[in-house]
Amino acid sequence: MPENLMDKVVALCKRRGFIFQSSEIYGGLSNTWDYGPYGVELKNNLKRAWWGSVVYQRNDIFGMDAAILMHPQVWQASGHVENFFDLKSDCRSCKKRFKSADLADKKKCPECGGELTEAKAFNLMFKTHQGPVADDSNVIYMRPETAQGIFVNFANILDSRHPKLPFGLAQIGKSFRNEITPGNFTFRTREFEQMEIEYFVPPEEADKYYASWVEERFNWYLGLGIKAENLRKRPHGNDELAHYARACTDIEYNFSFGWSELEGIANRTDFDLKQHAQSSGKDLRYFDDQKKERFYPYIIEPSGGVDRSVLAFLADAYYEEKVKDDTRVVLKLHKDLAPTKVAVLPLLRNRPEIVEMAKSLAAELKKSFITVYDDTGAIGKLYRRQDEVGTLYCLTVDVQSLEDKQVTVRDRDTMQQERIAIDKVKEYLSNKLV
Ligand code: ATP
Repeated sequence: MPENLMDKVVALCKRRGFIFQSSEIYGGLSNTWDYGPYGVELKNNLKRAWWGSVVYQRNDIFGMDAAILMHPQVWQASGHVENFFDLKSDCRSCKKRFKSADLADKKKCPECGGELTEAKAFNLMFKTHQGPVADDSNVIYMRPETAQGIFVNFANILDSRHPKLPFGLAQIGKSFRNEITPGNFTFRTREFEQMEIEYFVPPEEADKYYASWVEERFNWYLGLGIKAENLRKRPHGNDELAHYARACTDIEYNFSFGWSELEGIANRTDFDLKQHAQSSGKDLRYFDDQKKERFYPYIIEPSGGVDRSVLAFLADAYYEEKVKDDTRVVLKLHKDLAPTKVAVLPLLRNRPEIVEMAKSLAAELKKSFITVYDDTGAIGKLYRRQDEVGTLYCLTVDVQSLEDKQVTVRDRDTMQQERIAIDKVKEYLSNKLV
């Protein structure tokens, strides 16, 4: 791991256009981040990989996309209005705010030694008003988790798709939490994206499915190239469990700021469906037509953060390698995650025949792979630039290409080069990338 890894990742993200500070020209909105051209591709690739593995590769999970704004009663029933808070204390001297759980000494400011106020409960939900009148009858919340949008649609899915247990619903979307101590770049922010599955099972089989989801989700990260030594499972102690959960295991990544949660897999029991049934007056039980029984299924919830995963994949893929007298920075991202797959580079940009050949090759490859064309520098510089953003293959068109109709293909990780006939390039890349 290079020294100051996180500083280097943050600098690379800005330098190359992965992630920028929000509203930077106004001094920035703290702990809020915008994804630039490469960042949005990486994030979309990550979401696609998740959706592919949990929706398209299975027969028992449907996708959905619920609204961020929901009926305020949802958050009463879910327990968020009453229970979704952190305890915080303020320093009377320096005015800084701390999460009580992070304080070794609950009375003394860890930064200036000043006196701390009594801990106060601080609800993490963002509150706003719907419509033009800002009074209590119009209060509405920005959802703090995507899960509730799934629970309240449970009956709609039963009625429209008639699934049999076990089955699940998967959703990716923004959530908002008014965190007391956001920080560590995109790790903890107030606006973030979640990818969540709610998997409905017969109550007596909940433990079995819980265990298998922990394995499945752990292996998903490994399959996309996270190093095994940087990933671990951490089962929660009973004192840590959320008010609705019977068991929970976190999947943690070894960030340079310490082991931290990427995803939690929880057994939420039948808490949510029962609460919403009671609060809405609607019957949210499942009907087992073989046993002729109506009951509330248990729910296993694998709940991951898109932004946290992106950060873990970036940190894990970051390498500095000595090449002769130089150091190259390279992002060794998995082929499914790399924002750009192929770059076509003309060796001499003042030779129109070479430029034309390179441009037409790029245009052809764009039909099948995310491909860029770049002629804005000398070849060494162009390679470094592509390495830093994780481009898998660079194809160079040179003088010889005009005669032998071949190009040089350079592999990002090994830097090995080989000559390939232009009319075989597509097949070559398909074998590597698909
Ligand atoms: P933490 O303990 O780190 O606050 P949590 O246990 O409250 O997280 P969950 O409620 O289980 O988190 O949310 C599921 C996932 O959503 C987390 O594993 C994480 O990846 C993501 N997530 C939660 N809060 C944030 C946040 N403030 N910023 C970025 N991602 C978040």
